[in-house]
Amino acid sequence: MAAIKTIGILTSGGDAPGMNAAIRAVTRSAIFSGFKVKGIYRGYKGLLTNEIVDFKTQNVSNIIQMGGTILKTARCQEFKSPEGRQLAYDTLRQHEIDALVVIGGDGSLSGARAFATEFNFPCIGLPGTIDNDLYGTDETIGYDTALNTIMECVDKIRDTATSHERLFFIEVMGRDAGFLALNGAIASGAEAAIIPEISTEVDQLAELIQNGFRKSKNSSIVLVAESPVTGGAMALAERVNKEYPEYDVRVSILGHLQRGGSPTARDRILASRLGSAAIDALLDDQRNVMIGISNDEIVYVPFSKAIKKDKPINRSLLDTLRRLSI
Ligand code: ADP
Repeated sequence: MAAIKTIGILTSGGDAPGMNAAIRAVTRSAIFSGFKVKGIYRGYKGLLTNEIVDFKTQNVSNIIQMGGTILKTARCQEFKSPEGRQLAYDTLRQHEIDALVVIGGDGSLSGARAFATEFNFPCIGLPGTIDNDLYGTDETIGYDTALNTIMECVDKIRDTATSHERLFFIEVMGRDAGFLALNGAIASGAEAAIIPEISTEVDQLAELIQNGFRKSKNSSIVLVAESPVTGGAMALAERVNKEYPEYDVRVSILGHLQRGGSPTARDRILASRLGSAAIDALLDDQRNVMIGISNDEIVYVPFSKAIKKDKPINRSLLDTLRRLSI
């Protein structure tokens, strides 16, 4: 395989706090190791619209503390077709880019996988998503910040829930994963979490009510993972209104609040380590892997595994939540 001289970097899909720290780490580690770096704007779209600039160490100064992504991000339907990916390849060749670092969620890594396979092009992925739903890494970039944001929001909602003696359903992000809902519930002292991972096994709402979860309390907070599987907070509240009218139920959907903000120290450190490791991986002749972290060690996870979408939730956390909410 030809030697790599220039590395392109892009952020794609949903933004996540810590993406900037990752861009900084990739850029600086690459330059430190003698590579040239080019920043590609707006994810895969920038490869089709030719939005590419040289990146020096100064381009990534003063960004480690910023949420969002200085490279911008986008969704790009065209990249899902072979013709779109051919255009992207032509642009990369035109800019003499020999390897790509893609920071994004499972869609973005699916794109990187397709592209790498079709063109035998070295691609390294970094897990950038607040959902924490990529297999093979203990945590994804942005997850810890989102979790802390959720905790702060729930703390505030708790004040009004307690004053009015209400049942609150608070909907959090997570796509098809319950990591934010479950750990957010533990961190904020909520009564329960309704998550997609067990939605098909049990009727979580009925179980909650039947177990008399509100017996010793005058207010209750339940975190609900947004997902067609759980139905979301609105649908659950409608069910309560119909089936359990004795409860005074309210809904709060945290929405995009969860994506923003300055990354926590944990996310900055994670992004810095993973970004740096992406360059080590290329030097190590690794191709088409996502860089992850497992038991505090850097690991290389083949794209095919990372995007399998069956990252298991730690079920003992459900038990912890149950015990602590009596
Ligand atoms: P995320 O990376 O946050 O999961 P998306 O699922 O929206 O976000 O994916 C981001 C982009 O990745 C898409 O807009 C598309 O350009 C690309 N992508 C997603 N899935 C594929 C796929 N199967 N093949 C090629 N490209 C894909």
